[in-house]
Amino acid sequence: MSIAETVKEQILTRYVARTGESRELDGRAKTSLPGGDTRWATYHLPYPVYMVRGEGCTLTDADGNHYIDFQNNYTSLVHGHAHPAITTAIQWQASNSAVYGAPAEGQFQLADLITSRLPGVEQLRYTNSGTEATMMAMRAARAFTGKQIILKMDGGYHGSHDMTEVNITPDLSDSKLPIPKVEADGVPESVLEAVAVARFNDLDSVEEILKSKRGQIAAIITEPIMNTAGMVAADENFLRGLRELADRYDTLLIFDEVVTMRLHEHGYQGKVNVLPDLTALGKLIGGGLPIGAFGGRKEIMSLYDPARPNGFHHSGTFNGNPLTMAAGIASVDALTPQAIEHINALGAKLRDGMEEAFAEAGIHGCATGEGSLAYAHWTKDKVASAADVVRWKQKAAELPRLLHMELLNLGIFSANRGMFNISTPMKEKEINSALEAFRAALNTLKPYAAEKAPHLMM
Ligand code: PMP
Repeated sequence: MSIAETVKEQILTRYVARTGESRELDGRAKTSLPGGDTRWATYHLPYPVYMVRGEGCTLTDADGNHYIDFQNNYTSLVHGHAHPAITTAIQWQASNSAVYGAPAEGQFQLADLITSRLPGVEQLRYTNSGTEATMMAMRAARAFTGKQIILKMDGGYHGSHDMTEVNITPDLSDSKLPIPKVEADGVPESVLEAVAVARFNDLDSVEEILKSKRGQIAAIITEPIMNTAGMVAADENFLRGLRELADRYDTLLIFDEVVTMRLHEHGYQGKVNVLPDLTALGKLIGGGLPIGAFGGRKEIMSLYDPARPNGFHHSGTFNGNPLTMAAGIASVDALTPQAIEHINALGAKLRDGMEEAFAEAGIHGCATGEGSLAYAHWTKDKVASAADVVRWKQKAAELPRLLHMELLNLGIFSANRGMFNISTPMKEKEINSALEAFRAALNTLKPYAAEKAPHLMM
């Protein structure tokens, strides 16, 4: 067995030795759940860890192992697990029923909180996921403009409805504009008639499409920071330029702030002072419970007024359910400017520490992200697009997956694609623990990298 194979084997052996109960549960899950899981992002080989408890920033798995949670259900748990105020709010509401089939006060209380924070959101409506939020934002744009096409960015992820399952994996060809491609099984090819794809951080590519499809584009949608693609940030000039282009070509601008709202009291839009016409939200505004919302200019959103003749239709059994509202209000309330400053500072420390750790280990690597968001990349090149991330991953053998697994062995829970995020209960101590584990994992992986990805060695 080569040195790299031995390193891999040792990591896997350590993992299996400490997660027997998870293995057993995974075996049982496979009967009724295909492959034992129900979420693409949380599965990994040989089987994922089953969690039984979370408190603050720690998780406990079925075998009694403890982890510091740097995944936080993919950023939705900005206050970590079982935050006292959120838990109390949920308990109180649950004892008064979870949902009524009638409106309840919490709906406008949470909406008031959100609209007072996000300058581009004057009114909003709730959904049950970020996926539905972007679906409805896109529909709102079509209904309002009477135009059909949504222009998205290559590599952008906006959930899993049909219109977003286009170029989540970026186009690697060197064609001038990305070649649009449907990627999820079962999505009709016909969505390509209603979706166009431009390059992120490339205003020329956006303008070229706006010109060639003049009068047909309902909206441009982008994440201010591409989350799933690898925490790739938009230049401020790109976001400003999108606003100008949208105005010039008479189309709407949608920001997907499902993840980035956490970065600033007034969301990313407030931070850079670029106001979209519509915004998609989710994750943290539900305090850990399922949620999404789409909102924007009153001129657009008021068309959802149910009393209005020919108003826009939007329905959902659980939209604005009081249980989620209660948790969401407590979550947004607790995300004060001081709390945001606190997690953003810890995020910067984590990113800096990761880069130092790569350098100390003699391995080319970097960390992207902003504020409380981080992503580890195995590359010496600049990471400026989703395509850059895919390109380095193609050359990094199993390094990201082995890093994820070795971090689990060392008590650090992160997203298996390399994403980390900070929750408000964290302190410097947790960042130091994560960095210590990160350094140790890099040391373990160094011989593997030397053999399987020698271009990464300094
Ligand atoms: N937009 C962005 C930017 C996201 O990161 C995600 C989920 N990771 C979504 C939309 C979809 O949200 P949900 O998983 O709640 O459907």
